[in-house]
Amino acid sequence: MSLPQFRLLRPRAIEEAVAYLAKHAGNVRVLAGGTDLIPSMRQKLFEPGSVLDLRGLSELRGIRPQTNGVVEIGALTTLSAIEKSTYLRQHYSVLTEAAATVASPVLRNMGTVGGNICLDTRCLWYNQSLTWRKGCGFCIKKDGNLCHVAPGGTKCWAAFSGDTPPALLCLNAEIEITGSDGRHRISLRDFYTGDGENYRQLLPTELVTRVFLPAESADYRGIYRKLRVRGSIDYPLAGVAVAMKRSNGHVADARIAITAVNPAPLLLQQAGEMLIGKAVDEGLADAVGDLAARTAKPLTTSALTPEYRREMIRVFTKRAVLAAASN
Ligand SMILES: Cc1cc2nc3c(=O)[nH]c(=O)nc-3n(C[C@H](O)[C@H](O)[C@H](O)COP(=O)(O)OP(=O)(O)OC[C@H]3O[C@@H](n4cnc5c(N)ncnc54)[C@H](O)[C@@H]3O)c2cc1C
Ligand code: SF4
Repeated sequence: MSLPQFRLLRPRAIEEAVAYLAKHAGNVRVLAGGTDLIPSMRQKLFEPGSVLDLRGLSELRGIRPQTNGVVEIGALTTLSAIEKSTYLRQHYSVLTEAAATVASPVLRNMGTVGGNICLDTRCLWYNQSLTWRKGCGFCIKKDGNLCHVAPGGTKCWAAFSGDTPPALLCLNAEIEITGSDGRHRISLRDFYTGDGENYRQLLPTELVTRVFLPAESADYRGIYRKLRVRGSIDYPLAGVAVAMKRSNGHVADARIAITAVNPAPLLLQQAGEMLIGKAVDEGLADAVGDLAARTAKPLTTSALTPEYRREMIRVFTKRAVLAAASN
């Protein structure tokens, strides 16, 4: 599958990058590591007139603990850099655990945290070649007006399938968004819409430029569990992140988030709250797993059956909670 023709734009500063976005609005795609964008362009899911290559923006690389305890991570920081960061492993282990499971080492060397946050939603009817999609019929997400997964509906249910966003949700991370009008910060929780078609709150003229981990989220015990077909390379088909703080054998705070089973990664507020103030045992971990499974809405967007993926959310949540609470 060949790449469509496009013009490559290579800005050297953030201001130049957002100026390009404003100038080519609607007909430009952002490239960070390119590990998702390039295969999608080969499949003709995107055929932009221009590609904005961010890789010259060196100010957006790096992990920088600030004096106030907040950690700033540039959007172009690779997943390998996150996985290998001793500082993050020590203080934000749920993030290093999740980053280490993305794709394969080669893809983690190229893939960035910004690209992982902005990752397009996935569906068996969408992530296919143009010939395949023409043969089987286009759908709401691209070129059509029906959904093969939920026929009769008007919503796209493509699954958000990134690994680091559930970990970042457990850490109450914020992201910085930069456009030609300046920059602002939002909670990552408010970034995803829950609609598989327009899955993120980002204007075509904006970039995700930085991620911030609050000081109050440091030093939680972190666990990430992921279901995939090939252990060495695949996207998650179900994923669970748990961050837990304990005191005197009881849970002082707990956060649980799931991915790959809904059009957005979800922080399960109630599931975390069920654990607070309690000593974790099999029964409690079971109950939390049941609640997580009830929140998951897997459909036939992905390999493996929805029933199995929902069951694995239950199993992984239970195991992750028990692991986070073990001494
Ligand atoms: C075989 C294979 C297996 C994979 N397995 C996994 C997996 O297990 N888990 C997983 O999470 N991912 C997986 N991926 C997807 C991908 O490698 C990762 O999600 C990676 O983090 C994407 O980052 P990137 O920098 O390469 O993004 P890109 O491909 O450059 O961009 C991805 C999307 O985000 C947009 N974008 C990127 N950066 C920004 C920014 N700063 N601001 C605004 N928009 C931006 C792009 O326009 C594009 O739409 C896999 C990919 C392949 C090919
Ligand atoms: S969920 Fe439906 S609309 Fe969305 S990509 Fe899949 S088939 Fe298309």
